[in-house]
Amino acid sequence: MGRAHPSIAFLLLLFFCFLVSTLVALSDSRRQDPLLPLPNANPLRFSADGSPFKIALFADLHYGENAWTDWGPAQDDGSDRVMSAVLDAEDPDFVIYLGDVITANNLPITNASLYWDRALSLTRNKGKPWSTVFGNHDDALFEWPSEWFSATGIPQVNCPSANVPFSGDTDCSFKGTTRIDLISTEIKNNVLSRTTRGPNTLWPSVSNYVLQVSSYKDPMLPVVFFYFLDSGGGSYPEVVSKAQAKWFQRQSQGINPNASIPEVIFWHIPSRAYQKVAPVPTTQIHTPCVGSINKEKVAPQVSEWGIMDILASRASVKVPKHHIHLSSGVDDDLEPRVAVFAGHNHGLDWCCPYKSLWLCFARHTGYGGYGNWPRGSRIISIDEQPFSITSWIRMEDGTEHSHVVLTP
Ligand SMILES: [Zn+2]
Repeated sequence: MGRAHPSIAFLLLLFFCFLVSTLVALSDSRRQDPLLPLPNANPLRFSADGSPFKIALFADLHYGENAWTDWGPAQDDGSDRVMSAVLDAEDPDFVIYLGDVITANNLPITNASLYWDRALSLTRNKGKPWSTVFGNHDDALFEWPSEWFSATGIPQVNCPSANVPFSGDTDCSFKGTTRIDLISTEIKNNVLSRTTRGPNTLWPSVSNYVLQVSSYKDPMLPVVFFYFLDSGGGSYPEVVSKAQAKWFQRQSQGINPNASIPEVIFWHIPSRAYQKVAPVPTTQIHTPCVGSINKEKVAPQVSEWGIMDILASRASVKVPKHHIHLSSGVDDDLEPRVAVFAGHNHGLDWCCPYKSLWLCFARHTGYGGYGNWPRGSRIISIDEQPFSITSWIRMEDGTEHSHVVLTP
């Protein structure tokens, strides 16, 4: 074997350098998540009459549960009724679907968007804008009920896309519908949807985005930012990843560098910090926590990759101590500028302070999902001038309770 010709060696060296520089450039571009552009073309806005901007949280609807029984579809009718009652009683400006919109592990159909869309239709029919964030059940694979394999056999399954009895052919599918498919279908078919598909670099999490609520005086003047984070589950672990935390940090620094504009966070699965402030399960909820049901342990994300530290550090504005009316559990020299809202635990509906934040559970809205506690919806009411956030729970039967002020 002779030695390589010098010019061939040089060419090989050139090619190697090119390869290395291309790989470096590629990895750089992957590291640099673009900030998500704000939808300023059509921002959410406070109204000129000074009325608060009111949000209804619809959490854990779990549409499509046990669709092959009488019980499942009856649950979905119940969820329709709860949302109608809340929309009529509160007339919110905006609705947030806080994950577990569907129970995908019970949906043997090719396109779970049919069930997803049914949940949205209640809000759409009222002409209200909304946004959605994913929960752990929304893109889950179909779970074959073991009783189907007993002596009685596999029941007749209705696959709504074709609306024909299960025949074992392509009318049914057991693969689940991906997060990308669900979010894309929602956005494509709904002008009222403010849901946004987050940066691809945060994959496999998808529902990561920010919405601005603008002043009635100026559509470009932000009053509050809503952040939505995909807390996983279903097709990947139940976490808010380091990449998501970093994305939030860059995004919030970019559009709100002094944290002077309050930020409200929405995700489905509570972070591990919820465990630290949780009242002992099944005991009374005492001040400074506010709520009405405390029936189970917090079921948190599986690990913590920095998002809570970043959120806590966002509340950087110092205010005189006497302006803080929260008695304990809150850093007295920090003004709470951030509140976090989660679903997932159907047997919890409290808000508790944590460091400079408030951590709140929604209220189980759907008749699907475990638990028989009466259904309702957490309402968030934001005043622009002077700025304040208050919250309460509106029940299906029209009653309301658990009023809490989340700002000084
Ligand atoms: Zn749930």
